[in-house]
Amino acid sequence: AQLDTLDIIVLAVLLLGTVAYFTKGTYWGLAKDPYATSYTAANGNKPAKTRNIVEKMEESNKNCVVFYGSQTGTAEDYASRLAKEGKSRFGLETMVADLEDYDFDNLDSLPEDKVAMFVLATYGEGEPTDNAVDFYEFITGEDVSFANSSEPALGNLKYVAFGLGNNTYEHYNSMVRNVSAALQKLGGQLIGTAGEGDDGAGTMEEDFLAWKDPMWTALAEKMGLEEREAVYEPVFGITEREGLTKDSPEVYLGEPNKMHLEGTQKGPFNAHNPYIAPIAESKEIFTVKDRNCLHLEIDISGSNLSYQTGDHIAVWPTNAGKEVDRFLNVTGLLSKRDSVIGVKALDPTAKVPFPTPTTYDAVVRYHMEICAPVSRQFIATLAAFAPNEAAKAEMTKLGSDKDYFHQKISNKYYNIAQALEEIGGGQQWTEIPFSAFIEGVNKVQPRYYSISSSSLVQKNMISVTAVVESLDVPGRTDALKGVTTNYLLALKQKQGGEPNPDPHGLTYDIMGPRNKYDGCHVPVHVRHSNFKLPSDPSKPIIMVGPGTGVAPFRGFVQERAAQAKAGENVGKTMLFFGCRKASEDFLYSSEWEEYKQALGDKFELITAFSRDGPKKVYVQHRLKEHQKEVNELLLQKAYFYVCGDAANMAREVNTMLAKIMSEERGIPETKAEEIVKSMRSANQYQEDVW
Ligand code: FAD
Repeated sequence: AQLDTLDIIVLAVLLLGTVAYFTKGTYWGLAKDPYATSYTAANGNKPAKTRNIVEKMEESNKNCVVFYGSQTGTAEDYASRLAKEGKSRFGLETMVADLEDYDFDNLDSLPEDKVAMFVLATYGEGEPTDNAVDFYEFITGEDVSFANSSEPALGNLKYVAFGLGNNTYEHYNSMVRNVSAALQKLGGQLIGTAGEGDDGAGTMEEDFLAWKDPMWTALAEKMGLEEREAVYEPVFGITEREGLTKDSPEVYLGEPNKMHLEGTQKGPFNAHNPYIAPIAESKEIFTVKDRNCLHLEIDISGSNLSYQTGDHIAVWPTNAGKEVDRFLNVTGLLSKRDSVIGVKALDPTAKVPFPTPTTYDAVVRYHMEICAPVSRQFIATLAAFAPNEAAKAEMTKLGSDKDYFHQKISNKYYNIAQALEEIGGGQQWTEIPFSAFIEGVNKVQPRYYSISSSSLVQKNMISVTAVVESLDVPGRTDALKGVTTNYLLALKQKQGGEPNPDPHGLTYDIMGPRNKYDGCHVPVHVRHSNFKLPSDPSKPIIMVGPGTGVAPFRGFVQERAAQAKAGENVGKTMLFFGCRKASEDFLYSSEWEEYKQALGDKFELITAFSRDGPKKVYVQHRLKEHQKEVNELLLQKAYFYVCGDAANMAREVNTMLAKIMSEERGIPETKAEEIVKSMRSANQYQEDVW
């Protein structure tokens, strides 16, 4: 009988496997399963490769690179959508690139017939995202210089830019603005306009869609591109691996990388390699009707992880079983959930975003952000795979009509599977290639929490204070459940001895892949922040932290109480806390008393309960009532901290502070606003907001 290709591959793999076995893995690189992407901890899924983008584009025959500076995955998602669209509509040879993976001193040798796109999120106080720091410093640096010395340096560079920002922050979209200005100063030629998306107004997605169409027109004109009918071309090849089952030791069932698969988790633990940490203690610190707040103690001893007061801990979530089932069911994959698949990038510049071989179930449960809002563009892409004509027409209409999409989909907070269920009227969507989901659904993002303990007091134990997300959505019977916080709630229930930890029927797989998270473990890593106490404890501090915004301040006050106990001279420690009712959601109400005993008059807690009286009182009102003392402390160079809600509270506190200084110092408000700005740049005013 003739051997077919699969047989040959199987034989070849067997042969190479044998070679590898007898050579003790010396030639393991050769024997590597072509459909396996083995993640190593140190570099995530990044093989050693060139940092020269011009060379990379030449060798992979690309004429368009889409760089992204991304923190939470949205900019990365937009970048990959631009790359796909450039290819399917205009036949551009596109690639997506993480800014962190390349050097930029040869950007001047990018040939004229190529184009670079920049999708750049602005993070926190106008900062670059972690992966864009080096690029940003390079390109905006005073003495930026390039390999060739032509003038102007970037005279050949054609570029396109889109920024992701939030207008509630002072430095709105400063990344894209500053980068675009720097590129133009160097002679770079902007095609179209530098787009700006506004998360603060909740219009990010629509801003992006509105920006990209005129950009494509301008780019097509500039580069002489012909638009063609968009055809879907998969980026990933999926093969079902008949020889493997979910019990085969090389199959990833949700393990984040190879070391975890082999059961030898090893540091350094970071954003590519979580530590499976034991939860030492978990409790609810308030529970009212549909709201509850968790306090967790996460044990990092022996992990080599360390933290400092004010840092963040990242929690790697698992999707709720209910949503995993919904997804697998509507896509017709339920009966194949445990089938083993290999995933291979069909384009050399694409990266498989999770380790393989794996199962459909593991991909959906651990690696895809299936609960996130579905985008209009993705709905438009999937129209071609609708199970019937009516569904196809509906998908096309949703994809092209912003208001209709809003009314039918985003108003109801549907995720992808819910949208498909609704539009398909119960029919399954079996025609959608799985690759389309890998491309179109974001990678699961770790969620950050402001650490609520002091590293001085509990070096190896990280406290987390998290409110469980549950959102009532008009027009829907079930509430929207936050992915991570409900997972943490399930863990808490398990630890509390509940036989079936199952908040709201969400059925989390809390034992983790191969039961590796048993005994109440959660995958985490630590992210260092600039939100820090003054190094001199005698300096006064003012903290404003309503709701869970109080989290880092519990750490701050815990630290100062310990310092006072140890006989150190601790400065005035003023905390403004706000919540709904003293009897309901007053976080750590009894603990503050203990700190008061240690700190005496040095500690002052000022509360604002918005629903206890006839009038709503918020932290900024209390700040105003204490304006004299606040101003005096600021004159003594007190540090001023704000933590919590970025959308409203942080801005109102900022405005109020300027007002207070204006009144107390008898200066115009504009002058006071200038002072607040300079306090921010001198780190005397620090924010930790989300
Ligand atoms: P998610 O599933 O991520 O949902 C969060 C929200 O996204 C929902 O409420 C909803 O508004 C929106 N959303 C989700 N799905 C959809 C959909 N299908 N359609 C439309 N909208 C949708 N939180 C704390 O409680 N304590 C802290 O100390 C804390 N510190 C933080 C520090 C930093 C630096 C940052 C960035 C965030 C911090 N957060 C903190 C917030 C935290 O990271 C999480 O965002 C929060 O816990 C919700 O996570 P989740 O996975 O439960 O919810």
